[in-house]
Amino acid sequence: MTTPHYRMIIGGTEIDSDDRYELVNPATEDVIASAAKGDASHVDAAVAEAKKTFEAGIWRNLPTAERAAVFDRAADLLETRADEMVRLTTMEDGTTVRLANVFSVIMPSGNLRYFADELRRYNPDSPGELVGPPYQAGKVRREPLGVCAAITPWNFPVALGAWKVLPALAMGNSVVLKPDEKTPITSLILAEILSEAGLPDGVFNVVTGDGETVGARLSAHPDVRKIAFTGSTEVGKKIVESSVGNLKRVTLELGGKGANVVLEDADIRTAVDGSIWAFLMHSGQACESGTRLLLPSSIHDEFVERLIERLKTIVIGDPSDPATDIGPLISAGQRDRVLKYLDIAKQEGATIAYGGGVPAGDIFTKGFWVEPTVLTGVTNDMTVAREEVFGPVLAVIRYDSVDEAIKIANDSEYGLSAGVWSEDLATAVSVAEQLESGSVWINDWHMINQVYPFGGFKQSGQGRELGRDAFSAYTQQKSIQVGVEKKLENRAYAMVLS
Ligand code: NAD
Repeated sequence: MTTPHYRMIIGGTEIDSDDRYELVNPATEDVIASAAKGDASHVDAAVAEAKKTFEAGIWRNLPTAERAAVFDRAADLLETRADEMVRLTTMEDGTTVRLANVFSVIMPSGNLRYFADELRRYNPDSPGELVGPPYQAGKVRREPLGVCAAITPWNFPVALGAWKVLPALAMGNSVVLKPDEKTPITSLILAEILSEAGLPDGVFNVVTGDGETVGARLSAHPDVRKIAFTGSTEVGKKIVESSVGNLKRVTLELGGKGANVVLEDADIRTAVDGSIWAFLMHSGQACESGTRLLLPSSIHDEFVERLIERLKTIVIGDPSDPATDIGPLISAGQRDRVLKYLDIAKQEGATIAYGGGVPAGDIFTKGFWVEPTVLTGVTNDMTVAREEVFGPVLAVIRYDSVDEAIKIANDSEYGLSAGVWSEDLATAVSVAEQLESGSVWINDWHMINQVYPFGGFKQSGQGRELGRDAFSAYTQQKSIQVGVEKKLENRAYAMVLS
């Protein structure tokens, strides 16, 4: 059977490359498709198209209501293609169908409608400060940046692409997206949908290929004014270095080592289920996972026992089966990396209380699998408590006082997500306020909501995505002020600017 081939989208045209590479289903190792392997010349062509359309003003000069209407149409189109999106997401990165429906359809279509609504309410002009009443000094205006680039990882490619591409486009910028080389298909479909919804050619371009060639060229490109990146902290630092050439604006969403603090008075049943959801969603391949479980000594043993009993009910297997809870890891390399972390944890004195290897069974002889794994006896100085494993691995750490728990939670170079479980909301909020983390969830986890900003403290990132302020990251302020004499002479002139 021949597999489909996916080309890049540059200037509204499908562009192939001389070189192509295979895409593999991580659950089966079957080759599902091939994709164009772009290089620096394709990045240059895409940036040139984006720059041309930006300068021509064909998109940014449209009234905001017309731009919003394109987003609304795209949301409808995405919903009509939901089954296809879910199937392709599951094939390209092993996301279970249940999660794929959330991250590739519900969330991005919700984002499209949310940004459309925000855009309809948006006014780029705000009045300037008054100097010498009753005259207005002028106004402050928000303008787009120009060509914006987005580089995304393989986990949740549509959702994480949408967080960057949509506010950038809403503000009238042109965009070049480089999806992860392992998961380009669904990002190309997103571009197709936006084009069908009426986005002019060249405003949104997608270049597929490797990070070291396509990603590196994009982040160093002199005509790119802003780069939004989600991925590892290691690559994030490289992006910052390459952005220096033309002082691009940079936002970074990087790794995490989420501290999940269970307080003594937590409802244990809810906290057990929630802690599993926190570390195991998408087989632990989420930056905001709750991977360090901090348990008070008084309830530690009972909690771990109940956690393990509950884990025995988790279904690992074929991600395209709606009954499946967790699927495979993205690649053989990622599986081996996770297993290596388990070896290191054992060497450093942790105990494998549950799981710890590749699951048994015929379907697991192909694909990249690791069992849900619970490590007990972990201390916060162990490698598994400090480094991001990015797999289905939970490190359980004991504590004896709430102050100690907060200290352990904050003793990390990461600060993306944290959680508190308690029946006493006032105490939970007080603990939440003391945690060094961009998001803190109380009695839940993975609550990603477009009206709340998402991003990291410390080495988990720079800047924020989503939230009421999402458009600021894709605009720059301009002050327009009128000379005092002129204003005094002509009040009407000042009024024009107010
Ligand atoms: P990665 O950093 O290896 O790759 C991310 C993207 O960067 C890919 O598109 C890749 O091709 C590109 N890239 C690689 N080298 C590059 C270079 N030199 N220059 C420019 N681009 C380059 O990350 P990954 O393994 O794909 O994803 C996992 C990481 O992403 C984890 O650390 C995870 O925590 C993080 N992540 C963070 C968030 C968040 O919102 N904070 C969300 C999801 C994932």
